[in-house]
Amino acid sequence: MSKFQKFYLYCAVHDSVFDSLQAVAKHRRDKNENPRNVKIICGECGELFRTMEDLAKHCNVAKFANRVSTIKNYNKHSFDYKQHFQFITRQSSVSAAAARARNEETAKPTLSSLNQNCLLICFHLLLSFFILLLFLLLLFLHLFHILNT
Ligand SMILES: [Zn+2]
Ligand SMILES: [Zn+2]
Repeated sequence: MSKFQKFYLYCAVHDSVFDSLQAVAKHRRDKNENPRNVKIICGECGELFRTMEDLAKHCNVAKFANRVSTIKNYNKHSFDYKQHFQFITRQSSVSAAAARARNEETAKPTLSSLNQNCLLICFHLLLSFFILLLFLLLLFLHLFHILNT
């Protein structure tokens, strides 16, 4: 059992701190958390892990326990993981909102170009109708002229 030297893992659901992957696994069993629905923050990289599988994959690499955190100004005794958690979840919701906005923006031009096409067709139809009317008028005038002479 290798204990992390310079950082901790954190459970954002139960406000718990762990110094090894085994401690997280024990906590998950104790709290009966769904292994496919956890919220574990890694103090080494700052990432949020949603499944035990992903977390295990992340931690089960050589010398992981000896790593130094890449989070700016990280201190395992004072790190405010709750604030960090809020920050990363807000970030992901902001990027999700941005993605939604982008999708809407790409949807809008197709809608307006559709409207433009519709207007163009209407305009052409009206134009041809008027030209036809004009021809008929000329034809009548011509006929009238012939009949009168
Ligand atoms: Zn928990
Ligand atoms: Zn990490």
